[in-house]
Amino acid sequence: MHSKEEIIKRLQSDSNKEDIIKLLNTDGEQQNVLLKTANEIKSKYVGNVVYLRGLIEYSNFCEKNCKYCGIRKDNKKISRYTMTEQEVIDAALYAYQENYASIALQAGELSSEKYIRKITSLLEKINAETNNELGITLSLGEQSEETLKIWKEKLGIRRYLLRIETSNKELYEKIHPNNETHSFQKRLETLKLLQKLNYQVGTGVMIGLPFQTIENLAEDILFFKDLDVDMIGMGPYIEHSDTPLYEYKNRLLPIDQRYNLTLKMIAICRIMFKDINIVASTAMQAIDYRGREAAIMAGANIVMPNLTPQKYRENYLLYQNKPCLDEDARRCKQCLEVRIQLTGNKTGYGEWGDSRHFFRRTALN
Ligand code: SF4
Repeated sequence: MHSKEEIIKRLQSDSNKEDIIKLLNTDGEQQNVLLKTANEIKSKYVGNVVYLRGLIEYSNFCEKNCKYCGIRKDNKKISRYTMTEQEVIDAALYAYQENYASIALQAGELSSEKYIRKITSLLEKINAETNNELGITLSLGEQSEETLKIWKEKLGIRRYLLRIETSNKELYEKIHPNNETHSFQKRLETLKLLQKLNYQVGTGVMIGLPFQTIENLAEDILFFKDLDVDMIGMGPYIEHSDTPLYEYKNRLLPIDQRYNLTLKMIAICRIMFKDINIVASTAMQAIDYRGREAAIMAGANIVMPNLTPQKYRENYLLYQNKPCLDEDARRCKQCLEVRIQLTGNKTGYGEWGDSRHFFRRTALN
């Protein structure tokens, strides 16, 4: 049985793979000690505040075919949509007026010149309508250096989230088609490029994938350490019946184990990396009604209330059983506020809630 002090010492000093594996394998009272320790570290290094990122799922068109994803290019069962410019601006204005302070713009991955011009113009308009006061996180996949440079330097975009999904190359190649469009190397290079361009960089993994081992997850955490990430967004893998990976559903861990592993991953990351931002993912709530609260209590400090117009939501299902499909933005806000309060945190209205780690990391360079 590890005490709180022992857990902190092990994770914050040399943090080797064996120690991480041991902690990922804990359950019962020992798991509670781990989660409680992470909650205390969160309180100490990033405060009892949960920051908001109003989530705008701009488009479900995607040129990729990731084998786990419900909006992959070859899934013909969904209707494809792209929000109109006005719909995006309205959603951003809602976030601005409600004092969310930040939005996250997410979409499938496209990279044509026309698309990039459209996004650039959209970002310019959001900035203009909100007096450049909205913190924007982009989650638009792998883009060229030129594009990322324009968004960062000309438009002042602060943060970029690009999940590696798994840091194990072999596993990555099992869950993606084996071709140039889905290159593990390119993903890694884009993460480094984002750091070079001075973005606050976020990444993350899926937890409980078929073929994934506890050892892989421990290596994922060490990957975050090596990369010196500013933000982490990770969640349990939830299978989608219209994807190729679904054929392995019988090899999956039971859903409650994937859920618990995610809590432990969050807790270990919080203890090791102290002042980064960690998302309490909606996928946690897909498994348990109080999943996001549990993630916050395990060290997460960011939630992403959905601002996508309701009519599009059922066509943006990266995984199945996604919650809150029928909740409008206003109800979602009230619901989240209560949920955050129940965790003993306050909602960071009016605050960007940038990654403190980013400022520490860049000051040292
Ligand atoms: S995970 Fe992202 S890049 Fe892959 S298919 Fe889904 S939306 Fe496209």
